Amino acid sequence: MTVGIVGAGITGLALAHHLEKADIEYVVLEADSEPGGVIRSDRVDGHLLEWGPQRLRRTEPVDELITDLGMDDEVIEAGETKLFVYANGKLRRAPFSIEEFGKTDLLSWRGKLDVLKEPQTDPADPDETAAELFTRKFGEEAYRNLIGPLFGGIYGSEPEQMPVKHALSGVLLMEQKYGDLLTPVLKRAMAGGTSAPAISFEEGIQRLPEALSDAHAENVHLETAISEIRQSDDGYVLETDGAEFAVDDVVLTTAAEASADLLENLTDSAESLTELNYNPLALVHLRADCDREGFGYQVRHDEGLETLGVSWNASMFDRDGVYTVFLGGMKNPKLVEESDQTLGETARTEFNDVMDADADVVSVARLGRGFPAYDASWNALDRLETPDGIHLATNYTARMGVPSRIREAKGLATTLAESHATRPADRE
Ligand SMILES: Cc1cc2nc3c(=O)[nH]c(=O)nc-3n(C[C@H](O)[C@H](O)[C@H](O)COP(=O)(O)OP(=O)(O)OC[C@H]3O[C@@H](n4cnc5c(N)ncnc54)[C@H](O)[C@@H]3O)c2cc1C
Repeated sequence: MTVGIVGAGITGLALAHHLEKADIEYVVLEADSEPGGVIRSDRVDGHLLEWGPQRLRRTEPVDELITDLGMDDEVIEAGETKLFVYANGKLRRAPFSIEEFGKTDLLSWRGKLDVLKEPQTDPADPDETAAELFTRKFGEEAYRNLIGPLFGGIYGSEPEQMPVKHALSGVLLMEQKYGDLLTPVLKRAMAGGTSAPAISFEEGIQRLPEALSDAHAENVHLETAISEIRQSDDGYVLETDGAEFAVDDVVLTTAAEASADLLENLTDSAESLTELNYNPLALVHLRADCDREGFGYQVRHDEGLETLGVSWNASMFDRDGVYTVFLGGMKNPKLVEESDQTLGETARTEFNDVMDADADVVSVARLGRGFPAYDASWNALDRLETPDGIHLATNYTARMGVPSRIREAKGLATTLAESHATRPADRE
C-alpha cells in the first residue's frame, strides 16, 4: 500500500513520519520549494522573524516528534508566560490562575461573580454563536473584556460570526465530559494555570517541518505541484507537470480552495470547499526596545485600534527586540489591501501608543487567506463527500493549531495502518 500525501506542511510531514513508523509506504508531493506550508521562519537584517505561528505548545504529539528527530537541543521554551488584553486604554493581565482571577482588573467583582455562576446556565447550543455562548455563560463583562479578545484574537475572527458547532467543538465535548465549563477551567487554574509549555526553535518554528522533510527526504518531493488526481483500477494517480505517481490512498492536506481544484473530477461536491472563508491578515514585524515581559496582547474590540494583537517575540524567545503585529482579520479585511507603508505606519503608531515605545518597521507581509474563519460558511462542509480512499487532514477537518495538526496526522496514520492490515483479507 502506498499513500500519496499532497502538501509538505506540518500535517503532511507529520503524517509521513507516522506512516514510516507504521511501515506503510508513502510519497509526499509539495508545490513549494521549501517544506513548512504556512510555517515560515527566516532572518531579515539579522532578526529572526516568523510569518506563521509565533509559538507552539509542546503537547505529547509535538514532544514525540522532537524526541524522534533528536531536536531537543534546538528547542527554546518561552520565558514569562503572561498574556495581556488592551482594554480601557491600558494593558491588563489576563488571569489563568485562581490568584490572578482574584486580582485581575479586567473584571469587576460583579463580573467575577457572573463567571462563577456558569454551572447554573443552560448547556451550549451548537447553533448559537461563540459570542452568544460566552456572554450567556460567563456574563457580558467577561466576554467583552477577556474571552472575546482572547478567543477572537486566536483566529483574527469575530466571535459574533462564529457558530459554536464550527468554532467550539472542543468546548461542546468538554461540557459533555464535565457537565459544565467552569469545572475544567477551575481545575486548570488550581494547577496554577499550567498547560504544555510554549516553545520555538533556535532558528524558528520552520525548523520542525525542515527536520521532518530532511529525515524523510527520500520520499518528499519539493517543487512538485499536483495538477490533477485521477481514479485508476486499483487506486489513484497523482499527476504533476511531467510525472505521475500511482498510489492506493490519497491524503489532501491543502487549504480549501486548492483541495476544491484537486477534487473537481472526483466529486460533484468539491465546489462546496470554495465557499469556506479564511480571514485575510497582515503581519508587520517591528523592532523596539521594551522591557515588558510576556507572550503579548490582544486588543478589545471597541478600543478604536486596527491592531488585532501583538506577539512579543523579544520577551518570549529572546528575539532581539522583535514584535509581530497582526492587522486585518474579519474585523477589517480591506486594511490588508493597503500599501506596505500604511500597514507599517499603522502598526508602528498603535504599538507606540500601547507600549509607550518607539519602533522601526522590519517587514510587512500579507496572507490573503490567513486564518480559517470557522464562520457560517463552514456549513458548506455538510455537502462535501469524498470518494473511498481520499482523505482530508487539514484545518477544516480539525483545529488549526500545530499540535492539533500533528495529532490529526498521527491519528490518520493509525487509521491507514489498520486499514492496510485488513486489506489482504478483503481482497481474498
Ligand atoms: C499567521 C498564522 C499564525 C499562526 N499562529 C499559530 C500559533 O501561534 N500556534 C499554532 O499552534 N498554530 C498557529 N497557526 C496555525 C498553524 O500554523 C497552521 O494551521 C498549520 O501550520 C497548517 O499546516 P498544514 O500542513 O495543515 O497546512 P499548510 O501549512 O497550508 O500546508 C499545505 C501545503 O500544501 C501545499 N500545496 C497546496 N497545493 C498543492 C498542490 N496542488 N500540490 C502540492 N502541494 C500543494 C502548500 O504549498 C503547503 O505547503 C497559525 C497560522 C497562521 C497562518
